[in-house]
Amino acid sequence: MTPITQRRELRTELPGPRSRALQARKEAAVSAGVSTGLPVYIDRAGGGILVDVDGNHLIDFGSGIAVTTVGASAPRVVEAVQGQVERFTHTCFMVTPYEEYLEVCEKLAALTPGSHEKRSALFNSGAEAVENAVKIARAYTGRSTIVAFDHAYHGRTNLTMALTAKNLPYKQGFGPFAGEVHRAPMAYPFRWPGDREHVAEEAFAAFAAQVHTQVGEQNVAAVIVEPIQGEGGFIVPPAGWLERIARWCQEHGALFIADEIQTGFCRTGDWFACDAEGVVPDLITTAKGIAGGMPLAAVTGRAEVMDAVHPGGLGGTYGGNPVACAAALGAIATMEEEDLCGRARQIGDVLRSRLEQLADKVGVIGEIRGRGAMVAVEVVVGSGDRSPDAALTAAVSAHCHREGLVTLTAGTFGNVLRFLPPLTISDELLHEGLDILEDAFLTVLDGGDR
Ligand code: PMP
Repeated sequence: MTPITQRRELRTELPGPRSRALQARKEAAVSAGVSTGLPVYIDRAGGGILVDVDGNHLIDFGSGIAVTTVGASAPRVVEAVQGQVERFTHTCFMVTPYEEYLEVCEKLAALTPGSHEKRSALFNSGAEAVENAVKIARAYTGRSTIVAFDHAYHGRTNLTMALTAKNLPYKQGFGPFAGEVHRAPMAYPFRWPGDREHVAEEAFAAFAAQVHTQVGEQNVAAVIVEPIQGEGGFIVPPAGWLERIARWCQEHGALFIADEIQTGFCRTGDWFACDAEGVVPDLITTAKGIAGGMPLAAVTGRAEVMDAVHPGGLGGTYGGNPVACAAALGAIATMEEEDLCGRARQIGDVLRSRLEQLADKVGVIGEIRGRGAMVAVEVVVGSGDRSPDAALTAAVSAHCHREGLVTLTAGTFGNVLRFLPPLTISDELLHEGLDILEDAFLTVLDGGDR
Protein backbone atom coordinates (compact mmCIF):
# COMPACT_ATOMS: atom_id res chain seq x y z
CA MET A 1 0.00 0.00 0.00
CA THR A 2 1.20 3.50 -0.74
CA PRO A 3 2.00 5.48 2.40
CA ILE A 4 -0.63 7.97 3.51
CA THR A 5 0.28 11.57 2.71
CA GLN A 6 0.81 13.23 6.07
CA ARG A 7 -1.23 16.31 5.28
CA ARG A 8 -4.69 17.53 6.23
CA GLU A 9 -6.93 17.73 3.23
CA LEU A 10 -10.65 18.42 3.15
CA ARG A 11 -12.44 17.42 -0.05
CA THR A 12 -16.00 17.59 1.29
CA GLU A 13 -17.74 19.03 4.30
CA LEU A 14 -17.40 16.78 7.35
CA PRO A 15 -19.03 14.34 7.60
CA GLY A 16 -19.06 13.92 3.83
CA PRO A 17 -21.81 12.25 1.74
CA ARG A 18 -20.44 8.71 2.03
CA SER A 19 -20.01 9.03 5.78
CA ARG A 20 -23.55 10.36 6.09
CA ALA A 21 -24.90 7.40 4.13
CA LEU A 22 -22.97 5.00 6.36
CA GLN A 23 -24.25 6.78 9.46
CA ALA A 24 -27.82 6.22 8.25
CA ARG A 25 -27.01 2.50 7.98
CA LYS A 26 -25.43 2.64 11.44
CA GLU A 27 -28.64 4.00 12.90
CA ALA A 28 -30.59 1.12 11.35
CA ALA A 29 -28.15 -1.63 12.34
CA VAL A 30 -26.21 -0.61 15.45
CA SER A 31 -27.57 -0.11 18.95
CA ALA A 32 -28.17 3.55 19.78
CA GLY A 33 -26.24 2.82 22.98
CA VAL A 34 -23.04 2.76 20.94
CA SER A 35 -22.49 6.37 19.97
CA THR A 36 -19.92 7.90 17.62
CA GLY A 37 -18.17 11.12 18.61
CA LEU A 38 -17.39 12.14 15.04
CA PRO A 39 -19.40 10.11 12.48
CA VAL A 40 -16.72 10.22 9.82
CA TYR A 41 -16.09 6.69 8.56
CA ILE A 42 -12.46 5.73 8.22
CA ASP A 43 -10.97 4.00 5.22
CA ARG A 44 -7.25 4.09 6.07
CA ALA A 45 -5.06 5.50 8.83
CA GLY A 46 -1.38 5.91 9.63
CA GLY A 47 1.12 8.35 11.13
CA GLY A 48 -0.97 11.27 12.34
CA ILE A 49 -3.67 11.03 9.65
CA LEU A 50 -7.08 9.35 9.35
CA VAL A 51 -8.41 9.09 5.78
CA ASP A 52 -12.19 8.89 5.53
CA VAL A 53 -14.41 7.26 2.92
CA ASP A 54 -14.89 10.60 1.16
CA GLY A 55 -11.13 11.03 0.73
CA ASN A 56 -10.70 13.62 3.50
CA HIS A 57 -7.46 13.55 5.50
CA LEU A 58 -8.09 14.33 9.16
CA ILE A 59 -5.45 15.07 11.81
CA ASP A 60 -5.60 12.59 14.66
CA PHE A 61 -5.31 14.02 18.19
CA GLY A 62 -7.02 11.02 19.78
CA SER A 63 -5.22 7.80 18.73
CA GLY A 64 -8.51 5.91 19.07
CA ILE A 65 -8.46 6.88 22.78
CA ALA A 66 -4.76 6.42 23.52
CA VAL A 67 -4.40 3.17 21.57
CA THR A 68 -2.46 3.81 18.36
CA THR A 69 0.60 5.22 20.10
CA VAL A 70 2.81 3.74 17.36
CA GLY A 71 0.37 4.87 14.64
CA ALA A 72 -2.63 3.01 13.23
CA SER A 73 -0.66 0.96 10.71
CA ALA A 74 2.86 0.83 12.13
CA PRO A 75 5.08 -1.21 9.76
CA ARG A 76 6.36 -3.59 12.47
CA VAL A 77 2.81 -4.21 13.68
CA VAL A 78 1.47 -4.80 10.17
CA GLU A 79 4.27 -7.23 9.38
CA ALA A 80 3.95 -9.11 12.68
CA VAL A 81 0.17 -9.43 12.32
CA GLN A 82 0.34 -10.59 8.70
CA GLY A 83 2.99 -13.16 9.54
CA GLN A 84 1.05 -14.48 12.50
CA VAL A 85 -2.27 -14.71 10.63
CA GLU A 86 -0.56 -16.84 8.00
CA ARG A 87 0.85 -19.19 10.66
CA PHE A 88 -2.28 -19.51 12.84
CA THR A 89 -4.96 -17.21 14.24
CA HIS A 90 -5.94 -19.03 17.43
CA THR A 91 -5.51 -22.15 19.44
CA CYS A 92 -6.55 -20.85 22.90
CA PHE A 93 -3.57 -20.50 25.22
CA MET A 94 -5.42 -22.54 27.87
CA VAL A 95 -5.62 -25.49 25.46
CA THR A 96 -2.42 -25.58 23.38
CA PRO A 97 -0.10 -22.65 24.13
CA TYR A 98 2.33 -20.71 21.89
CA GLU A 99 5.52 -18.74 22.36
CA GLU A 100 4.20 -15.24 21.48
CA TYR A 101 2.17 -15.15 24.72
CA LEU A 102 5.33 -15.88 26.72
CA GLU A 103 7.30 -13.23 24.87
CA VAL A 104 4.70 -10.57 25.71
CA CYS A 105 4.74 -11.60 29.40
CA GLU A 106 8.56 -11.49 29.41
CA LYS A 107 8.48 -8.00 27.91
CA LEU A 108 5.94 -6.89 30.50
CA ALA A 109 8.16 -8.22 33.30
CA ALA A 110 11.14 -6.30 31.92
CA LEU A 111 9.35 -3.01 31.16
CA THR A 112 6.94 -2.51 34.07
CA PRO A 113 8.17 -0.75 37.24
CA GLY A 114 10.30 -2.73 39.72
CA SER A 115 13.01 -5.34 39.26
CA HIS A 116 11.32 -8.03 41.38
CA GLU A 117 10.14 -11.34 39.98
CA LYS A 118 6.90 -10.88 38.07
CA ARG A 119 4.21 -12.85 36.28
CA SER A 120 1.51 -11.71 33.86
CA ALA A 121 -1.84 -12.91 32.54
CA LEU A 122 -3.25 -11.66 29.24
CA PHE A 123 -6.79 -10.60 28.41
CA ASN A 124 -8.73 -8.78 25.68
CA SER A 125 -9.80 -5.42 27.07
CA GLY A 126 -8.85 -2.98 29.76
CA ALA A 127 -12.00 -3.70 31.76
CA GLU A 128 -11.24 -7.39 31.69
CA ALA A 129 -7.72 -6.75 32.99
CA VAL A 130 -9.11 -4.64 35.84
CA GLU A 131 -11.67 -7.34 36.72
CA ASN A 132 -8.88 -9.89 36.88
CA ALA A 133 -6.59 -7.67 38.94
CA VAL A 134 -9.42 -7.49 41.48
CA LYS A 135 -9.88 -11.27 41.41
CA ILE A 136 -6.16 -11.77 41.98
CA ALA A 137 -6.01 -9.23 44.80
CA ARG A 138 -8.93 -10.88 46.57
CA ALA A 139 -7.48 -14.36 46.13
CA TYR A 140 -4.09 -13.27 47.48
CA THR A 141 -5.28 -11.20 50.45
CA GLY A 142 -8.41 -13.14 51.37
CA ARG A 143 -10.10 -9.72 51.74
CA SER A 144 -12.88 -8.20 49.70
CA THR A 145 -12.99 -4.38 49.64
CA ILE A 146 -11.54 -2.44 46.74
CA VAL A 147 -10.94 1.28 47.19
CA ALA A 148 -11.27 3.46 44.08
CA PHE A 149 -11.23 7.24 43.72
CA ASP A 150 -13.49 10.08 42.71
CA HIS A 151 -13.26 10.78 38.94
CA ALA A 152 -11.89 7.28 38.32
CA TYR A 153 -12.58 5.32 35.16
CA HIS A 154 -11.88 1.60 35.06
CA GLY A 155 -14.34 0.24 32.46
CA ARG A 156 -17.93 -0.63 31.63
CA THR A 157 -18.39 -4.23 32.82
CA ASN A 158 -20.39 -4.76 35.99
CA LEU A 159 -17.48 -4.72 38.44
CA THR A 160 -15.61 -1.98 36.59
CA MET A 161 -18.77 0.17 36.43
CA ALA A 162 -18.78 -0.04 40.21
CA LEU A 163 -15.18 1.21 40.22
CA THR A 164 -15.89 3.95 37.67
CA ALA A 165 -17.05 7.19 39.28
CA LYS A 166 -19.12 8.99 36.66
CA ASN A 167 -22.80 8.18 36.34
CA LEU A 168 -23.71 9.46 32.87
CA PRO A 169 -23.08 7.92 30.41
CA TYR A 170 -21.34 4.96 32.04
CA LYS A 171 -23.67 3.77 34.81
CA GLN A 172 -27.11 5.29 34.42
CA GLY A 173 -29.75 2.57 34.45
CA PHE A 174 -27.24 -0.29 34.60
CA GLY A 175 -27.25 -1.10 38.32
CA PRO A 176 -27.20 -2.84 40.69
CA PHE A 177 -23.42 -2.70 40.70
CA ALA A 178 -20.87 -5.03 42.25
CA GLY A 179 -20.46 -4.53 45.98
CA GLU A 180 -17.45 -4.09 48.26
CA VAL A 181 -16.24 -1.01 46.43
CA HIS A 182 -15.41 2.10 48.45
CA ARG A 183 -14.84 5.49 46.85
CA ALA A 184 -12.32 7.90 48.33
CA PRO A 185 -11.54 11.55 47.52
CA MET A 186 -9.09 12.15 44.66
CA ALA A 187 -6.16 14.54 44.92
CA TYR A 188 -7.47 16.88 42.21
CA PRO A 189 -5.42 20.05 42.65
CA PHE A 190 -7.48 22.35 40.41
CA ARG A 191 -10.70 21.63 42.30
CA TRP A 192 -9.38 20.82 45.77
CA PRO A 193 -11.44 22.77 48.31
CA GLY A 194 -8.48 23.38 50.63
CA ASP A 195 -5.07 24.93 50.23
CA ARG A 196 -3.50 24.03 46.90
CA GLU A 197 -0.08 23.74 48.52
CA HIS A 198 -1.27 20.88 50.71
CA VAL A 199 -3.44 18.80 48.39
CA ALA A 200 -1.25 15.69 48.63
CA GLU A 201 -1.33 15.55 52.44
CA GLU A 202 -4.96 16.62 52.80
CA ALA A 203 -6.22 14.17 50.17
CA PHE A 204 -4.20 11.35 51.66
CA ALA A 205 -5.51 12.16 55.16
CA ALA A 206 -9.10 12.17 53.87
CA PHE A 207 -8.53 8.80 52.18
CA ALA A 208 -6.97 7.22 55.27
CA ALA A 209 -9.63 8.57 57.63
CA GLN A 210 -12.49 7.42 55.41
CA VAL A 211 -11.09 3.94 54.95
CA HIS A 212 -10.48 3.67 58.69
CA THR A 213 -13.99 4.67 59.72
CA GLN A 214 -16.07 3.33 56.84
CA VAL A 215 -14.24 0.16 55.76
CA GLY A 216 -11.54 -0.91 58.21
CA GLU A 217 -7.99 -1.24 56.90
CA GLN A 218 -7.99 -5.00 57.53
CA ASN A 219 -10.80 -5.44 54.96
CA VAL A 220 -9.06 -3.74 52.05
CA ALA A 221 -7.86 -6.16 49.37
CA ALA A 222 -6.57 -3.42 47.09
CA VAL A 223 -6.53 0.26 46.26
CA ILE A 224 -6.84 0.89 42.54
CA VAL A 225 -5.62 4.14 41.07
CA GLU A 226 -4.87 5.65 37.68
CA PRO A 227 -1.52 7.43 38.23
CA ILE A 228 -2.91 10.15 35.95
CA GLN A 229 -6.67 9.88 35.61
CA GLY A 230 -7.75 9.49 31.99
CA GLU A 231 -11.49 9.80 31.39
CA GLY A 232 -11.73 11.85 34.60
CA GLY A 233 -9.92 14.67 32.79
CA PHE A 234 -6.17 13.97 32.91
CA ILE A 235 -6.07 14.75 36.60
CA VAL A 236 -2.46 14.66 37.75
CA PRO A 237 -2.21 14.14 41.50
CA PRO A 238 0.47 16.24 43.21
CA ALA A 239 3.93 14.70 43.71
CA GLY A 240 4.03 12.44 46.72
CA TRP A 241 0.35 11.45 46.83
CA LEU A 242 0.72 8.28 44.78
CA GLU A 243 3.74 7.21 46.80
CA ARG A 244 1.83 7.86 50.05
CA ILE A 245 -1.10 5.71 48.90
CA ALA A 246 1.31 2.92 47.87
CA ARG A 247 2.99 3.10 51.29
CA TRP A 248 -0.38 2.96 53.05
CA CYS A 249 -1.15 -0.24 51.13
CA GLN A 250 2.14 -1.75 52.25
CA GLU A 251 1.53 -0.76 55.88
CA HIS A 252 -1.91 -2.35 55.87
CA GLY A 253 -1.37 -5.51 53.84
CA ALA A 254 -3.46 -4.26 50.90
CA LEU A 255 -2.31 -4.38 47.28
CA PHE A 256 -1.60 -1.26 45.28
CA ILE A 257 -3.02 -1.64 41.75
CA ALA A 258 -1.90 0.92 39.18
CA ASP A 259 -4.36 1.11 36.30
CA GLU A 260 -2.01 2.21 33.50
CA ILE A 261 -4.39 1.28 30.71
CA GLN A 262 -4.44 4.85 29.39
CA THR A 263 -1.07 6.11 30.73
CA GLY A 264 1.10 3.11 29.83
CA PHE A 265 3.49 2.37 26.97
CA CYS A 266 5.35 5.66 26.42
CA ARG A 267 2.27 7.88 26.48
CA THR A 268 3.48 10.02 29.40
CA GLY A 269 7.13 10.11 28.29
CA ASP A 270 8.07 7.08 30.38
CA TRP A 271 7.16 3.47 29.83
CA PHE A 272 4.64 3.86 32.65
CA ALA A 273 3.38 6.88 34.56
CA CYS A 274 4.44 5.33 37.88
CA ASP A 275 8.07 5.53 36.69
CA ALA A 276 8.12 9.32 37.00
CA GLU A 277 7.53 9.01 40.74
CA GLY A 278 9.50 5.84 41.39
CA VAL A 279 6.34 4.08 42.59
CA VAL A 280 6.31 0.30 42.18
CA PRO A 281 2.80 -1.17 42.14
CA ASP A 282 1.99 -4.70 43.31
CA LEU A 283 -0.22 -5.14 40.25
CA ILE A 284 -0.38 -3.09 37.07
CA THR A 285 -3.10 -3.25 34.43
CA THR A 286 -2.24 -2.41 30.82
CA ALA A 287 -4.12 -2.40 27.50
CA LYS A 288 -4.68 0.25 24.78
CA GLY A 289 -1.15 1.24 23.60
CA ILE A 290 0.28 -2.22 24.23
CA ALA A 291 -0.60 -3.73 20.84
CA GLY A 292 -0.84 -0.97 18.21
CA GLY A 293 -4.62 -1.26 17.92
CA MET A 294 -5.16 -4.98 18.35
CA PRO A 295 -7.23 -6.00 21.40
CA LEU A 296 -4.85 -7.05 24.16
CA ALA A 297 -4.67 -6.34 27.88
CA ALA A 298 -2.60 -7.60 30.76
CA VAL A 299 -2.27 -7.85 34.50
CA THR A 300 1.35 -7.91 35.64
CA GLY A 301 2.44 -8.24 39.23
CA ARG A 302 4.60 -9.66 41.93
CA ALA A 303 5.15 -13.37 41.34
CA GLU A 304 3.78 -14.48 44.71
CA VAL A 305 0.63 -12.43 44.21
CA MET A 306 0.00 -13.60 40.66
CA ASP A 307 0.71 -17.21 41.61
CA ALA A 308 -1.72 -17.14 44.54
CA VAL A 309 -4.57 -17.99 42.15
CA HIS A 310 -5.43 -21.69 41.74
CA PRO A 311 -4.70 -23.21 38.29
CA GLY A 312 -7.59 -22.51 35.94
CA GLY A 313 -8.75 -19.50 37.97
CA LEU A 314 -7.68 -17.02 35.30
CA GLY A 315 -8.12 -17.10 31.55
CA GLY A 316 -10.67 -16.76 28.78
CA THR A 317 -11.04 -18.10 25.24
CA TYR A 318 -9.29 -15.25 23.48
CA GLY A 319 -7.03 -13.80 26.19
CA GLY A 320 -3.55 -13.34 24.73
CA ASN A 321 -4.67 -14.18 21.21
CA PRO A 322 -1.56 -14.90 19.09
CA VAL A 323 -2.32 -12.19 16.52
CA ALA A 324 -2.72 -9.61 19.29
CA CYS A 325 0.48 -10.85 20.94
CA ALA A 326 2.39 -10.57 17.65
CA ALA A 327 1.05 -7.03 17.27
CA ALA A 328 2.20 -6.19 20.80
CA LEU A 329 5.72 -7.43 20.07
CA GLY A 330 5.75 -5.26 16.91
CA ALA A 331 4.42 -2.24 18.82
CA ILE A 332 6.90 -2.63 21.69
CA ALA A 333 9.79 -3.02 19.24
CA THR A 334 8.65 0.21 17.55
CA MET A 335 8.58 2.03 20.89
CA GLU A 336 12.04 0.78 21.79
CA GLU A 337 13.71 1.32 18.45
CA GLU A 338 12.16 4.72 17.76
CA ASP A 339 12.49 5.99 21.36
CA LEU A 340 8.82 6.86 21.53
CA CYS A 341 9.15 7.81 25.21
CA GLY A 342 11.49 10.58 24.08
CA ARG A 343 9.11 11.53 21.28
CA ALA A 344 6.21 11.71 23.76
CA ARG A 345 8.17 14.25 25.80
CA GLN A 346 8.91 16.34 22.69
CA ILE A 347 5.24 16.29 21.69
CA GLY A 348 4.34 17.26 25.24
CA ASP A 349 6.65 20.29 25.06
CA VAL A 350 5.05 21.47 21.81
CA LEU A 351 1.52 20.94 23.15
CA ARG A 352 2.24 22.75 26.39
CA SER A 353 3.93 25.79 24.93
CA ARG A 354 1.21 26.26 22.31
CA LEU A 355 -1.57 25.70 24.85
CA GLU A 356 0.00 28.23 27.21
CA GLN A 357 -0.05 30.83 24.43
CA LEU A 358 -3.66 29.92 23.73
CA ALA A 359 -4.60 30.20 27.41
CA ASP A 360 -3.14 33.74 27.52
CA LYS A 361 -5.26 34.68 24.52
CA VAL A 362 -8.62 33.21 25.49
CA GLY A 363 -8.89 33.38 29.29
CA VAL A 364 -11.20 30.36 29.55
CA ILE A 365 -8.52 27.74 30.08
CA GLY A 366 -8.42 27.16 33.80
CA GLU A 367 -5.59 24.68 33.73
CA ILE A 368 -3.24 22.90 31.32
CA ARG A 369 -2.14 19.57 32.71
CA GLY A 370 -0.86 16.13 31.90
CA ARG A 371 2.49 14.59 31.18
CA GLY A 372 4.31 13.77 27.96
CA ALA A 373 1.89 13.35 25.06
CA MET A 374 -1.10 13.11 27.41
CA VAL A 375 -2.14 16.73 27.81
CA ALA A 376 -5.49 18.37 28.49
CA VAL A 377 -7.04 21.75 29.09
CA GLU A 378 -9.83 22.30 31.59
CA VAL A 379 -12.28 24.82 30.16
CA VAL A 380 -13.94 27.23 32.57
CA VAL A 381 -16.31 30.17 32.39
CA GLY A 382 -13.32 32.51 32.83
CA SER A 383 -12.69 35.93 34.39
CA GLY A 384 -11.93 34.44 37.77
CA ASP A 385 -14.81 31.93 37.58
CA ARG A 386 -13.66 28.32 37.66
CA SER A 387 -17.11 26.90 36.93
CA PRO A 388 -16.83 24.21 34.26
CA ASP A 389 -18.00 25.26 30.77
CA ALA A 390 -19.10 22.02 29.13
CA ALA A 391 -21.07 23.85 26.41
CA LEU A 392 -18.00 25.81 25.30
CA THR A 393 -15.91 22.63 25.38
CA ALA A 394 -18.42 20.82 23.16
CA ALA A 395 -18.64 23.75 20.75
CA VAL A 396 -14.84 24.00 20.40
CA SER A 397 -14.59 20.26 19.87
CA ALA A 398 -17.35 20.31 17.24
CA HIS A 399 -15.60 23.16 15.42
CA CYS A 400 -12.35 21.15 15.38
CA HIS A 401 -14.21 18.16 14.00
CA ARG A 402 -15.70 20.17 11.15
CA GLU A 403 -12.21 21.42 10.32
CA GLY A 404 -10.72 17.93 10.21
CA LEU A 405 -9.06 17.71 13.62
CA VAL A 406 -10.10 14.73 15.72
CA THR A 407 -10.27 15.87 19.35
CA LEU A 408 -11.62 14.10 22.40
CA THR A 409 -13.37 15.51 25.43
CA ALA A 410 -13.24 14.13 28.96
CA GLY A 411 -13.82 15.05 32.58
CA THR A 412 -16.46 14.50 35.21
CA PHE A 413 -17.97 17.86 34.24
CA GLY A 414 -17.51 17.40 30.48
CA ASN A 415 -15.24 20.45 30.29
CA VAL A 416 -11.88 18.93 29.42
CA LEU A 417 -10.34 18.75 25.95
CA ARG A 418 -7.69 16.08 25.92
CA PHE A 419 -4.91 15.54 23.43
CA LEU A 420 -3.49 12.10 22.75
CA PRO A 421 -1.82 12.24 19.34
CA PRO A 422 -0.08 9.17 17.96
CA LEU A 423 3.60 9.46 18.82
CA THR A 424 4.36 9.09 15.12
CA ILE A 425 2.70 12.42 14.27
CA SER A 426 4.94 14.99 12.59
CA ASP A 427 5.63 18.40 14.14
CA GLU A 428 3.95 20.02 11.12
CA LEU A 429 0.68 18.17 11.74
CA LEU A 430 0.90 18.84 15.45
CA HIS A 431 1.21 22.58 14.82
CA GLU A 432 -1.53 22.53 12.20
CA GLY A 433 -3.83 20.77 14.66
CA LEU A 434 -3.02 23.36 17.32
CA ASP A 435 -3.73 26.18 14.83
CA ILE A 436 -7.17 24.64 14.23
CA LEU A 437 -7.75 24.40 17.98
CA GLU A 438 -6.80 28.03 18.47
CA ASP A 439 -9.07 29.13 15.67
CA ALA A 440 -11.88 27.02 17.17
CA PHE A 441 -11.60 28.77 20.54
CA LEU A 442 -11.42 32.23 18.98
CA THR A 443 -14.34 31.60 16.61
CA VAL A 444 -16.58 30.07 19.25
CA LEU A 445 -15.78 32.75 21.84
CA ASP A 446 -16.45 35.39 19.20
CA GLY A 447 -19.97 34.00 19.06
CA GLY A 448 -19.49 32.79 15.50
CA ASP A 449 -19.99 29.13 16.20
CA ARG A 450 -22.09 28.44 19.28
N1 PMP B 1 -8.96 1.81 32.72
C1 PMP B 1 -8.59 2.99 32.19
C2 PMP B 1 -7.67 3.88 32.97
C3 PMP B 1 -9.07 3.37 30.94
O1 PMP B 1 -8.72 4.56 30.42
C4 PMP B 1 -9.92 2.49 30.24
C5 PMP B 1 -10.48 2.84 28.87
N2 PMP B 1 -10.71 4.17 28.62
C6 PMP B 1 -10.26 1.27 30.83
C7 PMP B 1 -9.76 0.96 32.07
C8 PMP B 1 -11.16 0.27 30.12
O2 PMP B 1 -10.53 -0.23 29.01
P1 PMP B 1 -11.39 -0.96 27.85
O3 PMP B 1 -12.19 0.11 27.20
O4 PMP B 1 -10.34 -1.56 26.96
O5 PMP B 1 -12.22 -1.98 28.53
